[in-house]
Amino acid sequence: MKLGPEEKRIMDKMQPGILTVDGFLGNDNRNLHDIIQEDAEKVEALGYTAEDIGKRMQYLTERSKEAYEEPILIDQKYLVQQDIWRGKVVCPFPHKGLYVKADIHLKNIENGIEISWTPLNIHFIEEHGFFEGKGSKHRLDPETLIKAIY
Ligand SMILES: [Zn+2]
Repeated sequence: MKLGPEEKRIMDKMQPGILTVDGFLGNDNRNLHDIIQEDAEKVEALGYTAEDIGKRMQYLTERSKEAYEEPILIDQKYLVQQDIWRGKVVCPFPHKGLYVKADIHLKNIENGIEISWTPLNIHFIEEHGFFEGKGSKHRLDPETLIKAIY
């Protein structure tokens, strides 16, 4: 499928140095809809939805705030620690919304998988089904993510 003007505008905003230093596409040269489509198929094959995954990440993120940036063990299974930074970032998709800058680190103590995400990752996944391009600093591989948070 050809790149539409709206999609091109979004992808331009996802380049490094526009909204964030690193951008959101990494070294992925596919179009945005192909990136989203491929991950949607993976998520579906594993029996989840991007919305469910986003809500789960949001739950773990909210719970971790109880520890004020110290590590906290959630549900006897997830060791989570959140670093909150100053400032906010806007979403490159066409709507209003500001997202807090923070890094949430999670270790699943049953299988040892460790991952990190940002509040913008949660929004991307829940609202746009976007896990970021391959090679992107904050890209979350759907399968690894699912194994970590479920
Ligand atoms: Zn958005």
